[in-house]
Amino acid sequence: MTSLPYTDWLPHQRWYAGRTRTLTKAEPAVVTHLPDGLDHVLLDAHYEDGGSERYQVFIGWNLDVAAELSAAALIGADGDRTASDALYDEHSAQRVLALIDTGAVVDGVRFVPEPGVALPVDAPARISGAEQSNTSVVFDSAAILKAFRRVTAGVNPDLELNRVLARAGCPNVARLLGAIESTTPEGEHLALAMVTEYAQNSAEGWAMATTSARDLYAEHDLNPDEVGGDFASESNRLGEAVAHVHGTLAAELATQSAPPPVESMLARLDSAMRVVPDLEPLAGQIAAMLRTAGEEPVRTQRIHGDLHLGQVLRTPESWLLIDFEGEPGVAVEERLKPDSVLRDVAGMLRSYEYAAFQLLLGQEDDEELARRARQWVDRNRDAFCDGYAAAAGYDPRDDRALLRAYELDKAVYESAYEARHRPGWLRIPLQSIERMLNGSDLTTR
Ligand code: ATP
Ligand code: MG
Repeated sequence: MTSLPYTDWLPHQRWYAGRTRTLTKAEPAVVTHLPDGLDHVLLDAHYEDGGSERYQVFIGWNLDVAAELSAAALIGADGDRTASDALYDEHSAQRVLALIDTGAVVDGVRFVPEPGVALPVDAPARISGAEQSNTSVVFDSAAILKAFRRVTAGVNPDLELNRVLARAGCPNVARLLGAIESTTPEGEHLALAMVTEYAQNSAEGWAMATTSARDLYAEHDLNPDEVGGDFASESNRLGEAVAHVHGTLAAELATQSAPPPVESMLARLDSAMRVVPDLEPLAGQIAAMLRTAGEEPVRTQRIHGDLHLGQVLRTPESWLLIDFEGEPGVAVEERLKPDSVLRDVAGMLRSYEYAAFQLLLGQEDDEELARRARQWVDRNRDAFCDGYAAAAGYDPRDDRALLRAYELDKAVYESAYEARHRPGWLRIPLQSIERMLNGSDLTTR
């Protein structure tokens, strides 16, 4: 199998993370022969800079993959056999789900159903077309399997927290149904995949919010009480959902008291300044605000870690939080650290700013539009906090300085991201940072 042309195939995969590096070789590090002719491969990508990454691939042989998918799925020939990425093949994906259903263990690869769960092993399966860093397969309307593509040893917070929340019966996550796990030769945990209930007929929070925000372009004069009003009741329920998830995580995994992570916020500011010259004149003020907010210990617990409107799904019944991996780019040990719930609240509040102000890019001189956008944002941010406060018995706005520190930290991170990837969007976080520094971010409350 070593003769498969992985080095040619890997860089063309959507989930390949090495685009800015030079790949010298991709080769299998661990191959596990699963029943029914499937192979489970941990593939090591070696880079010219001396680094490496480990990826996961399920291999099927001589598969009859649908024509429109075969370009991505086809890996190449090994002798008279042809290898494909098996997740593209319905029958193979169903086999993987069946292995989880039966709790199979093959050479250290553990297929683990959640207690009492029956997996929909016969459901029609199709690979998800979502633009994502992992690969998901949807089993009809019943389940979704997310195979992690880059695998790293240690606790995977996505699997860990989804398991805790599912076992505690939290209704605001897609319930975990099973997982694929392994252990490294050094005895460390390796999360390979997870299966959750599929949220049928759900809508993404981002799509709902930006659709609502388009009302800003209404021809007629808007009643200020109505701007964003249609989405505000959803924001309110979303606040409740986030509070429920936080409450469950606190109850199941304990809480601590610790100083807020001001040092890492300052470090982030430092590195952002190097790519965002506009931050430099503001840095002293930002740092002072972060330091002041961080003087007292606060209650900490496990949190989502990368919460925004793109990480929530509205089902006909409720809001669900998905993707508990934490912030990409932050080391895994950091992501596992307890933090204030205000980090998640701040992430969501920042997302409201984006949902409205990305619609105004290129039309910044239109004062009426800007005024409406501000109303939409304020109204939805408040609705979110109202919902959170009602469910948690704790209003995030009562810890104003700390909440603002987390928002500042996020906006600083965003500014570095935008400067690198979308310079046209840089004004969104910069405008927010200026508002926070001059105190005009305070709404009526
Ligand atoms: P990213 O690369 O953005 O971090 P990811 O690979 O971690 O993505 P997820 O964010 O977990 O994957 O899921 C990708 C998409 O799949 C989501 O945006 C959502 O549209 C859909 N999805 C995820 N979980 C479910 C679910 N339980 N039910 C329905 N759709 C889902
Ligand atoms: Mg993710």
